[in-house]
This record gives sequence, C-alpha cells and structure tokens, in this order.
Amino acid sequence: MAAISLRKVVKRYGRGAQALQVIHGVDAEVGDGEFVVIVGPSGCGKSTLLRMVAGLEEISGGEIAIGGRVVNDLEPADRDIAMVFQNYALYPHMSVFDNMAYGLKIRKMPPAQIRERVDKAAAILELGHLLQRTPRQLSGGQRQRVAMGRAIVREPQVFLFDEPLSNLDAKLRAQTRLEIQKLHRELGITSLFVTHDQVEAMTLAQRMLVMNAGHMEQFGTPEEVYHRPASTFVASFIGSPP
Ligand code: ADP
Ligand code: MG
Repeated sequence: MAAISLRKVVKRYGRGAQALQVIHGVDAEVGDGEFVVIVGPSGCGKSTLLRMVAGLEEISGGEIAIGGRVVNDLEPADRDIAMVFQNYALYPHMSVFDNMAYGLKIRKMPPAQIRERVDKAAAILELGHLLQRTPRQLSGGQRQRVAMGRAIVREPQVFLFDEPLSNLDAKLRAQTRLEIQKLHRELGITSLFVTHDQVEAMTLAQRMLVMNAGHMEQFGTPEEVYHRPASTFVASFIGSPP
C-alpha cells in the first residue's frame, strides 16, 4: 500500500469566473519510507501541493490518501503528518525540552511518555546535553535541529518539508541537509520535501516529482530524470545533456 496517494489532485484558488487553477490533476504514489522531492520553479505549485497533503489548504478536486486512508476532509491534526517549515519559530522563553515537548503537551500525552519521546529525538539529533538551554543559547544549526526535533517527537507517518534550507547560509544549509539525510536513514519515515533547487533535489531525492505550471512533468529517480527527461522542460530545468 502506498504511504501517500495523489489521485487527480486539482487546486483552484478563488471561485467562479475569478477562479485560478494552479494544480492540474497530479497523480502520484509515494512508497512507504520513501524520500520524494517535489521540485520546480517558483510559482509552479509545490507549496500548494504540499499544503493540501498537510490539510492546510482545501483540495478542489481528486483525492489524497495517507496510509490508505482518504484524508480530504480531515483536519491537519488528524492526518498523522508533521511539517517542517522554512521559517521555524522556536519559543524564545522556553527551554529546548519544552520547545520539543510543546506539541505533545497540547495533545495531553502523559509526561513520562513525553520525556521518553523527547529523549529519543534528542539522542538522534545530538541535543541531549542542550535540553535545559533556551534558543538564545544555541547556534543556528542547533536551533534548526530543535525545530526538526519538534516534528520527530510526534512520530508521524509522514514528514513534510517546505524549503527548510532556503533561508540558511551555505554552511548551515549543508549541515542541515546532512541532518535530514541522517534522520531519514535512521527513522525511515516517508518524506515529501519541496525545493526550487535542482541540485538539492538531485542530492536528496530517492525519487523526484518535477512540476511545471501546476502539472507534473515527470516522477522518477534522479538518474532517470537526468538521463531520460520526459520533456524539454525537464531537460532544461534539470540541465540534462542534450
Ligand atoms: P511554489 O511553492 O511552487 O512557489 P505556490 O504553490 O506557492 O508555488 O503557488 C502556486 C500558484 O498559486 C502561484 O501562481 C501563486 O501565486 C498561487 N497562489 C498561492 N497561494 C495562493 C492563494 N492563497 N491565493 C491565490 N493564489 C495563490
Ligand atoms: Mg513555495
């Protein structure tokens, strides 16, 4: 069974004559534990597609299923997903522990279980010795790891990333990219990762879903997309040899 199924997914913003269609029937199946990168130029609909999977944006047509369950009408909190955004905001007055525990506390998880989840995530992210610090006392890379820790502790079925690296300087971007790869190796959680950066996509993806103007141009491994581009758009966007 696919971890995520997109079936003829359509998105229109606005209604009636004013409606603007930005996603034109995307069909794709993401396997269990797979790391899929959604890549394409700015404005092609990447965030919209991801936000529909997250439940932050209503779907205008078609169907989205997570773990075999159609989620079209489910609230984000009921979808078993966790999202990592470009602009992560930590609570500045809370400790690292409390920042990571916050989402579990509001779900009324018992304290002992919260402790266990946070300790496990902190060990993976090498934050164990920093749990009592506040964000101000951390480096940029450590803060980024805390932001990921908040997603991990929820132990979701699916991770959704919307350009989490694009606001970082080159060094931190490289560091965080390695961190995300390590996370995926260790936890094997199905992931959808959005970027406009071809090189980032080629490096991270097991398969990449190439978008152009709301259409899926190709869905394949980096090797397939590079060596056998499905269209001239893909060839020029990825920079394949002619
Ligand atoms: P990407 O993430 O690939 O840059 P988006 O998904 O943000 O693209 O946007 C896709 C298209 O939808 C763009 O033309 C954008 O202007 C439009 N769009 C995005 N959000 C809204 C919105 N809330 N209302 C109207 N149009 C929107
Ligand atoms: Mg976007």
